Amino acid sequence: MLVQQILKSKGDSGVITVAPGTKVSEAAQILAERRIGGIIISSDGKHPEGILSERDIVRALALKGGACMTENVDDIMTRNPVCCTRQDSADLVLTRMTDGRFRHMPVVEDGAMVGIVTIGDVVKARLQELSMEKAALQDMIMGH
Ligand code: AMP
Repeated sequence: MLVQQILKSKGDSGVITVAPGTKVSEAAQILAERRIGGIIISSDGKHPEGILSERDIVRALALKGGACMTENVDDIMTRNPVCCTRQDSADLVLTRMTDGRFRHMPVVEDGAMVGIVTIGDVVKARLQELSMEKAALQDMIMGH
């Protein structure tokens, strides 16, 4: 299974981005409204300069208290996020996410973001694939 199949099954949901200089409070509001766990920081909507996940906000809250909400996303985001391409396999993405201990990955093609995959998307797609493989094997064994 390739990343492009996962993106297709998600539909064209696009990538939600905010520009550098956006306040953490504004980013937190978007995460809550959109029910997502991470947001890409990008000046042009194409190149992912950073990623801000709910974990970064929780960490900043623990370290600095509520004052961190008035800081800019650039102050607490992770710079240069690890990205994948449409042609990468779901297994490779899962390994990179597990090794790097993160759950979001921008998908980049020709220098521009074309989507984002989460660990939830990849696990869901792999489970569907495994279930189809199981059904096909059962059919084969039963001689259907
Ligand atoms: P997450 O598990 O994705 O909520 O993020 C956990 C931590 O990893 C946070 O500090 C994120 O900023 C960071 N992070 C999330 N996605 C990536 C990525 N693709 N590359 C590098 N760091 C990331």
